[in-house]
Amino acid sequence: MAERIDGVRKLFTSKSARVDTNRGDLYYQQLFDTCRARLDALREQPAVNRLDFDSLLTDEGQDRREFMKWVSAVTAMLMLPPMFTPLVAEAAELMNRLPVVWLELQDCAGNSEALLRSDGPKIDEIVLDIISLEFHESLMAPSGHQAEKQLEDAMEHFKGNYLLFVEGSIPVGAGRDWCTIGASGETFLDHLNRVAENAAAVVAVGACATFGGIPAAAPNPTGAVGVMDVVKGKPVINIPACPANPANMVGVVLHYALTGQVPELDSLLRPKFAFGYRIHDNCERRAHFDAGEYVEEWGDEGAKNNFCLYKMGCKGPMTFNNCSIVRYNEGVNWPIGVGRGCIGCSEPDFWDKYAYERPMANANIKAPTGGVEKTVDQFGLGLLTAAGIGIGIHAVASAVAGKREEGGEG
Ligand code: SF4
Ligand code: SF4
Repeated sequence: MAERIDGVRKLFTSKSARVDTNRGDLYYQQLFDTCRARLDALREQPAVNRLDFDSLLTDEGQDRREFMKWVSAVTAMLMLPPMFTPLVAEAAELMNRLPVVWLELQDCAGNSEALLRSDGPKIDEIVLDIISLEFHESLMAPSGHQAEKQLEDAMEHFKGNYLLFVEGSIPVGAGRDWCTIGASGETFLDHLNRVAENAAAVVAVGACATFGGIPAAAPNPTGAVGVMDVVKGKPVINIPACPANPANMVGVVLHYALTGQVPELDSLLRPKFAFGYRIHDNCERRAHFDAGEYVEEWGDEGAKNNFCLYKMGCKGPMTFNNCSIVRYNEGVNWPIGVGRGCIGCSEPDFWDKYAYERPMANANIKAPTGGVEKTVDQFGLGLLTAAGIGIGIHAVASAVAGKREEGGEG
């Protein structure tokens, strides 16, 4: 038993060890110089649209002070020290040098919706407004051949320089021809590969574009896969979740503007600044988990007291994402905040493995093994086992306490 308790203590006290937030003065000075040079080069480039950042701020009723507050928060989110704040502000202002092409494939448009539906304080929106969105089928006015021409022109004009955002999975199974695009009937697979060929980098947004999402849930009739399974020879950045958090999309674009490089990624190609911690690490209900206080059924006293949702199926202990910090709907709230456990939407195969109304320890789910999942899932499973043991220890402790009370020792 002592060995097990030691094991639990080790797992719960060890740092996630996934994000290195202090790399030393020399590292940051070199990075600062790289960013300075990148921004100077970006400033020399012609703007690809005529939008002016300051005018947009004024039009949206924002002042410079609000903008600088936002910049400080984003600098911290990107895990950069405060010395980078002026550079991040400059990167935001130079966004009109960045051409973006956005493709929608096998999807529900939820990620586009998440972006469009964001409301105040508006700074994220302004930053995204100023990007030169060269092609987005759902948002642009032209359609049909005109839209196709716009895409061809953008690919030609910004060859090698545009960021390609992809929303939705790619059907590659026997039914891949079920999903075609345009008058020529080009398959999603061919379309994606053709547009990705001349992109500077490909950003997969949402659960479907990253790991296949709901279209890839068993029995996966279309053989849906994510972007990284088909696009080769290009940097791919995954921003999973259902939908992807707009704050993380803005973070990736800002990082690219600032450094000209993709951010540091984990083994699943997710930016570490956003996916370097588990939901559980920063959850507001964590104290209840540690105290062994759980919601046992919907609507019980535990639920009324905001106890931990682990026993109701929360997958926060094995899910890497920053929702517990940045939240959704402009930071107003998030799933666990409103009393619903995390269903692990930023993990591969979340629909089959995690969207289950019981703790993983009680679910009849085969342990995932091998492949790219190994690191993250084994880590998650390790914690899960520990969580199971933790609950077990708490149960024993409660039973002992109960006996003491019965026996008048309490
Ligand atoms: S199990 Fe879920 S609700 Fe409980 S502390 Fe962890 S993340 Fe929060
Ligand atoms: S709390 Fe979990 S399920 Fe909800 S959005 Fe975040 S990662 Fe996805």
